[in-house]
Amino acid sequence: MENNNKNIFGFYSGPNANSPFRGLGGLLRNNIKNLVPYSSARDEFKGEASVYLDANENAFGSPLDTQYNRYPDPMQYKVKKRISEIKGVPPRNIFLGNGSDEAIDVIFRAFCNPGVDNVILVPPTYGMYEVSANINDIAIRRVSLTADFQLNLEGIAEAIDEHTKLIFICSPNNPTGNSINREDVETLLANFSGLVIVDEAYINFSRQKSFIQELTEYANLVVLQTLSKAWGLAGLRVGMAFASEEIIEVLNKVKPPYNINEASQQLALEALANVDQVNGWIRETLAQRDKLVLELKNLDFVLDIYPSDANFILVKTTAPKEIYNFLVQKGIIVRDRSKIDLCEGCLRITVGTPAENELLLKNLQNYK
Ligand SMILES: *Cc1c(COP(=O)(O)O)cnc(C)c1O
Repeated sequence: MENNNKNIFGFYSGPNANSPFRGLGGLLRNNIKNLVPYSSARDEFKGEASVYLDANENAFGSPLDTQYNRYPDPMQYKVKKRISEIKGVPPRNIFLGNGSDEAIDVIFRAFCNPGVDNVILVPPTYGMYEVSANINDIAIRRVSLTADFQLNLEGIAEAIDEHTKLIFICSPNNPTGNSINREDVETLLANFSGLVIVDEAYINFSRQKSFIQELTEYANLVVLQTLSKAWGLAGLRVGMAFASEEIIEVLNKVKPPYNINEASQQLALEALANVDQVNGWIRETLAQRDKLVLELKNLDFVLDIYPSDANFILVKTTAPKEIYNFLVQKGIIVRDRSKIDLCEGCLRITVGTPAENELLLKNLQNYK
């Protein structure tokens, strides 16, 4: 080591090796820095009143049993308060999106200048980061995971330049199922001058701790979670981002004013009361996953099953396409991931109910 301020991340770490983060001022797009956000009727009057004639709603009601004639709370306060109690994070550090996919898109729109900035992705990983980058015209720098699906830190350090604003890390990773080594993510957080987004869509199934606890340590951390997987609410479209108050304020400014509809807010709030039921399903899913792994290992066309911290497994087979089509004929749909780099031969299989898993196994035992 010739120079203590220099690590593998080079001079882009910034002058202060302890705090390389360039701060939001240096990260934000200028148009967003100067943006005057939309001010809704519910932003301009927040108290309680008996007559609301300020939002051009239908005052008679909705042609339904439940009334949806009023616009929803733009800041989703009740839902955030409940999430805050569950996660131990103040509401001001929580952003809610129409799925975490919306949070991903809003992050690109807030921080990345189209045609100028770039993002680092570490494939094989979740496909939406790439799609969202492409929609926003943000260059993608790909640094493949290693053979054991971990970060290539040297490669990432080399790929970073002064236009790199974001790095997306999915942990547990989709489609590989493993968790990314915590120390490696911390190395990125401590050395990268932009934002590190840790997507924890599958964290409820993992033995690893969430990065939410690190929010007070790292100003450049964004943690994504969702109600779509363990919480069983994919159809409601509610995703969460946890970050510093400053980052959350930016995301709130950029999002559409009423991005979580009233029905989703009400149902999410109801569902969030049933933590025990969800925890029971998580335990059952993990037990089913382990059983499925044991049984699948006995099949001669199964070459490998990768260790999973999620509610799915990546299974390397001798004939992915044929097995996929065979299962489709039986009415069972899995995900063919065999065209993806480092996933040659692989099918991604979601853990189902005991009966569904049994059916899957019965059918696979009859393959060839
Ligand atoms: C399923 C999934 C999501 C969830 O997206 P929503 O928009 O919240 O449904 C996010 N990230 C990853 C890695 C996923 O697999």
